[in-house]
Amino acid sequence: MRIGFYPGSFDPVTNGHVDIFERSAALVDRLIVGIGIHPGKTPLFSVDEKTAMLKNDLHPLAKRGGFDYEIVTFDRLVVDAASEHGATILIRGLRDPADFTYEMQMSGMNGEMKPEVHTVFLPASPGVQHISSTLVRQIASMGGNVQTFVPKHVADMLREKFSG
Ligand code: ADP
Repeated sequence: MRIGFYPGSFDPVTNGHVDIFERSAALVDRLIVGIGIHPGKTPLFSVDEKTAMLKNDLHPLAKRGGFDYEIVTFDRLVVDAASEHGATILIRGLRDPADFTYEMQMSGMNGEMKPEVHTVFLPASPGVQHISSTLVRQIASMGGNVQTFVPKHVADMLREKFSG
């Protein structure tokens, strides 16, 4: 049984994340999506809101792709959280050279701390490579249309957050 751990902030979930979920399905039997909690940082969406978003996207994908999924939160080292959930594959998406430089360093240090957890990089698909949660939040906060960057239910949640 191959268990993958895909950590992130998911603030909010974007089409880039969904692309990684879809492609992870080909690699793992069980996908654990970890919502990172950083003390001192206040995200736009709560853990409950993020969990609802993630479920909305993961449920149909898991049914179609024949994999199991679980959504968890973690507030410690990613490799420790991955091990705790029995994962040996740590999934990260790569968008650009900046991601690559940072992620290579992280995977090196993570590999030294927990050699049994293997980082697997998935290059962003061309259609979603430019999408980041940070920019989606900024655009939505200024009343911009984010429909092409996020799933419809997420666009609705963003509109609600910033309306009024
Ligand atoms: P973090 O705060 O760790 O960057 P994110 O939620 O932004 O959390 O991202 C989680 C993971 O998803 C990271 O591996 C990131 O590289 C990947 N990711 C984010 N956006 C995209 C995208 N558009 N295409 C591919 N991977 C992405």
